[in-house]
Amino acid sequence: MTPSLQAKRCATCQTLSLESSLACRKCGAPDLTAVSLSGIGTVYSYCSVQVPPTQLRDEAPYVLLIVELDGGPVALGRWASSGDVRIGQRVSAEADSRRPDLLWFQTYSDSDAGSR
Ligand SMILES: [Zn+2]
Repeated sequence: MTPSLQAKRCATCQTLSLESSLACRKCGAPDLTAVSLSGIGTVYSYCSVQVPPTQLRDEAPYVLLIVELDGGPVALGRWASSGDVRIGQRVSAEADSRRPDLLWFQTYSDSDAGSR
């Protein structure tokens, strides 16, 4: 499966955002265009959540990632792989089919792109 994410690009300042807002968060312009991103990016930071909010207590512990997506926007998501994650690692995102606001990240190798 080819990962992809929906984002919005501001026509005025070209800023990409994953948020579903009606105006650009950076410049306030209302002219946003839907674009698809590969969902591939680089781990900026992560943490292991041992004490989650009440509604997620059955899912702890889990690893939360901050990922700089190729193309600009930063995404927050969860680590789907069983192995360790590290800062600078290449990962790909997949949206949760039951929770559209939740992204799952897994290890991605840039050499994978050539084998598809
Ligand atoms: Zn803008």
